[in-house]
Amino acid sequence: MRRMVFAAVVAVAVVFPAVVVTTPGSSHGDRAAGYTAPTTAAPAPVHRREHGDGVVDVPPYRIGEVIPAAREWDGPAGTVRETGVAEVALTFDDGPHPDWTPKVLASLRRHGVRATFCVVGVQARAYPELLRSIVADGHTLCNHSWRHSYDLGSRSESAIRADLERTNEAIRAAVPHARIGYFRQPGGAWTDRVVRVARELGMVPIHWSVDPGDWNAGHGAARIARDVVAHTGPGGIVLLHDGGGDRGATHLALESILPELTARFRLIALPPPEEERRGHFGGMYPTTSRTGRDAAPHGDRDGT
Ligand SMILES: [Zn+2]
Repeated sequence: MRRMVFAAVVAVAVVFPAVVVTTPGSSHGDRAAGYTAPTTAAPAPVHRREHGDGVVDVPPYRIGEVIPAAREWDGPAGTVRETGVAEVALTFDDGPHPDWTPKVLASLRRHGVRATFCVVGVQARAYPELLRSIVADGHTLCNHSWRHSYDLGSRSESAIRADLERTNEAIRAAVPHARIGYFRQPGGAWTDRVVRVARELGMVPIHWSVDPGDWNAGHGAARIARDVVAHTGPGGIVLLHDGGGDRGATHLALESILPELTARFRLIALPPPEEERRGHFGGMYPTTSRTGRDAAPHGDRDGT
C-alpha cells in the first residue's frame, strides 16, 4: 500500500509536471510547465491537499476543468478518491433507510443537488421503493456490499464476486435498468482483490477525500458541517451516511453543507453528464451505456 501511494505521488509528478508535489524531506516539481492559469478575475488561493505521503498544491480550477493530480490511482489500492474535475461529489452510504433516506432526498431536492448513494444489499432488498426514489431523483447508485462486510476484501475472489453480484441483483430487482457504476468497500477496508473484482464487474472503486465522521454518534451536526465545509476542495468526494443508524445529525448538517458548498462548487452525481467529460476523465469512469445496461467492460480503460 505504502509503495503504491509513493508510486502515485511520483507518477503524478512525472505525468503532470504542473502539479507541485512536496514530500517530506524533499522538494520537487515544476509548476510552470504545461499549465495555463484561469484568466478570470484574480487567482484564487492555491488549494493545498494531502496526497499520500506528501502534499499537493492544486491551482484554482474552473468548473469543468480537469484536475491533473486526480487519477484513478489516487486513492488507496488503486481506488478513486476525487471526481477528476473541479466539481464535487457528495456520497451517502449504508442506506436505503426508511427514516433517513427520504429526508436526505428531500434536502437534496430542495437545493437542486444530485449525489451518489452507496447502498447495502439487504437494505436494497428491504426497501425497493426507496431505491426507486433515489433513481427517480437522478442520483447515481453505488454497490456497498450485501451486508456491509468490513472483511469482504479478505475473502476469496469468488466470494467477493458473489457478494457484489447479489447486491447488484437486489438493486436491479427494484430498478431493473439501474446503472451501477461504482463500488465502495465498507469501512474503506480496501484490498487489491476487492478492487480487482469490482473493476471486473464494471464498477469503479470509489474512496473519498473528505470524511467528517458523521457515522460517529459523538459528532453533532455543527461539527459535521464545519468539517465538510472546511475540508472540501475542487474535485472532492465527500463521505456521508443516510443509513446505518440515527442520521439526524447528518440530515441537519446538510442544511448548512448544501448552501455552503453549492455557493463554492458545482455538486455532481457520479459520473457527471456526458457533456462534462474531458480528456482522461472519460477513461476514469466506465463508459455510459445508452441502452441502460451496466458499464462497459474494464478493457475500455486500457491505455489510459
Ligand atoms: Zn458503510
